[in-house]
Amino acid sequence: MNRSLELFSAAARVIPGGVNSPVRAFKGVGGSPRFIAEASGAFVTDVDGKRYIDYVGSWGPMILGHAPQSVIAAVQQAAAKGTSYGAPTEAEIQLAEKIIELVPSIEMVRLVNSGTEATMSALRLARAATGRDAIVKFEGCYHGHADALLVAAGSGAATFGVPSSPGVPEGAAKDTLTLPYNDIDALKALFAQRGGEIAAIIVEPVAGNMGCVLPQPGFLQALREVCDQSGALLILDEVMTGFRVALGGAQALYDIKPDLTTLGKVIGGGLPVGAYGGRRDIMEQISPAGPVYQAGTLSGNPLATAAGLATLEAISQPGFYDPIVARCAQLVEGIGQRLDAAGIPHLGYHVGTMFGLFFTEQSAVRNFSEAAKADHERFKTWFHGMLDEGVYLAPSGYEAGFVSAVHDDDLIEQTLAAAERVAKTL
Ligand code: PMP
Repeated sequence: MNRSLELFSAAARVIPGGVNSPVRAFKGVGGSPRFIAEASGAFVTDVDGKRYIDYVGSWGPMILGHAPQSVIAAVQQAAAKGTSYGAPTEAEIQLAEKIIELVPSIEMVRLVNSGTEATMSALRLARAATGRDAIVKFEGCYHGHADALLVAAGSGAATFGVPSSPGVPEGAAKDTLTLPYNDIDALKALFAQRGGEIAAIIVEPVAGNMGCVLPQPGFLQALREVCDQSGALLILDEVMTGFRVALGGAQALYDIKPDLTTLGKVIGGGLPVGAYGGRRDIMEQISPAGPVYQAGTLSGNPLATAAGLATLEAISQPGFYDPIVARCAQLVEGIGQRLDAAGIPHLGYHVGTMFGLFFTEQSAVRNFSEAAKADHERFKTWFHGMLDEGVYLAPSGYEAGFVSAVHDDDLIEQTLAAAERVAKTL
């Protein structure tokens, strides 16, 4: 028995399902997860010494690759000065200023410790600011595991077929209205009927938790319009897309101005960080400036702040994104050519440094029900074939993949050579 397998059974005795976050368990694809010993650059190495080209990147944060020198040095320096004070620091101002500089719709920002905290807090704020209770989310979008958002949720919730979790009280879910992604008619119909009750729309501007599903032309603009007409707030959940699809996030790429934005992943450089920010008049309602309560013992933690600052510093260098975006396109198009050659119907999507692949004969995947119709059995074969070849993809067809700054041409070529061999086995 290999070491990963041994560790998985040891883990399962003391940790539910053997993991601290569900999709890691490989339940969606079968087999057992690789336990990781270390990571460097574009690679993760498991406890059995096998090295993989990694396209998960810790589910998005590692845009610089693993253990980038500048981030490691910043964290080490910060750690030497103490790991947490529970009192304000200058670095928090610097990180806030950097976020505001890069994402102009954010006039003020509050740091938290995860994407879940960011979206949960943004919802509370939106409800307080509007005096309304209902929120709108889209089927297959995942916004973390807060009660009100675990309704028709994507990511692991979709992978395991529990999009609406037991344990969520009816009361917490009853104000969550769900719509199909990209369906402007359904959106308009709902707002025509109930617009005055709706506090906010929360949306992944590119959906990365049902595979990678792009917003259709006009969809994000329609969200902005119905919000403006009804007085609801638009919350762009850029936990995944922020600093991923473009330096300024999806809002820069698609030219859409939200009232509030949630961030996570890249802003922490691999340490636990989230943030929510937006219009000053709304953000000033947060305690202690205003009455809307939200707090955190470790929020603005010096290590996380240092990692975030070092990461944002690196990615805001001119020309940082161009080669990564080009390689992401090269990867997805190259995989597509190899699947075509093998006669495997599929759809590959990519935007910025984020990508996804559906095995399907449909002409497009625009929403959750279309994503669910893809051949998830074939995805399993693909996933395990690539894993055997030393390529680590997200272990579910309902997840996106990520290319980092250190996935060079040679690694993309190696990945495509692996894809060619695996395509023939599908
Ligand atoms: N929002 C989005 C769009 C996400 O992709 C995620 C996590 N994948 C979250 C929120 C939740 O973030 P976290 O896992 O840090 O709580």
